[in-house]
Amino acid sequence: MSYQIAIDGPAGAGKSTIAKLVSKELGFVYVDTGAMYRAMALNCLNNGIDKNDEESVVALCEKTDVSIKYIDGEQAVFLNGENVNGLIRTPEVGNVASSISVYGKVREKLVSLQQSLAVSENVVMGGRDIGSVVLPNADLKIYLDADVNVRAKRRFDELVQKGEAPSFDTILEEMKERDYRDTHRDNSPLVRVPDAVYVDSSYMTIEEVKDAISEEFRKLGK
Ligand code: C5P
Repeated sequence: MSYQIAIDGPAGAGKSTIAKLVSKELGFVYVDTGAMYRAMALNCLNNGIDKNDEESVVALCEKTDVSIKYIDGEQAVFLNGENVNGLIRTPEVGNVASSISVYGKVREKLVSLQQSLAVSENVVMGGRDIGSVVLPNADLKIYLDADVNVRAKRRFDELVQKGEAPSFDTILEEMKERDYRDTHRDNSPLVRVPDAVYVDSSYMTIEEVKDAISEEFRKLGK
């Protein structure tokens, strides 16, 4: 039997950072589902497919292979056999990912990949619909939130660190749009399920959030 921890929440709440640390502490495998939607989005961009053209996006998605491998304990996402980890973290890819993830057929394909990863491994899985759709029977569900201004500032700092010169206002606007799309879509919107533990990371350090989540898991006595 394997254990499952689901961490859902909006963009920039710190899901990947936290999920990585929690998985390391508990010896679980970390699954970043956003990376899979991002890989599909990159695929659309590479092939000049309009993100609003559902039929073409779905047709491309159906003939695309997305898979996950673990390299030195880190998740790497492969798009048709190519490791695209270094190419999917741009705001453009994030926005296209948010647009194409509204399509049911895109979700179906990636959800089954996600579920298959959780069958044999203890996982910490982060995303938008993990507690609600992908792993509805997860041992622990966390809804990781933060104020939108704080989340935008984190993204801004990340990009500055990478040597870019982003506009804070643009990031904030895009983040609000993404939140709206993620919470209002028909297919598996981001929701706070009733059995999720709510964690607001706005004014917590990464270490504090990690400890809070690990503690919630230990409290289950598993
Ligand atoms: O988490 P991340 O920002 O990498 O996700 C990119 C986009 O992929 C999100 O804005 C969301 O629209 C979509 N996504 C999703 N379901 C998930 C994970 C991500 O719809 N489980």
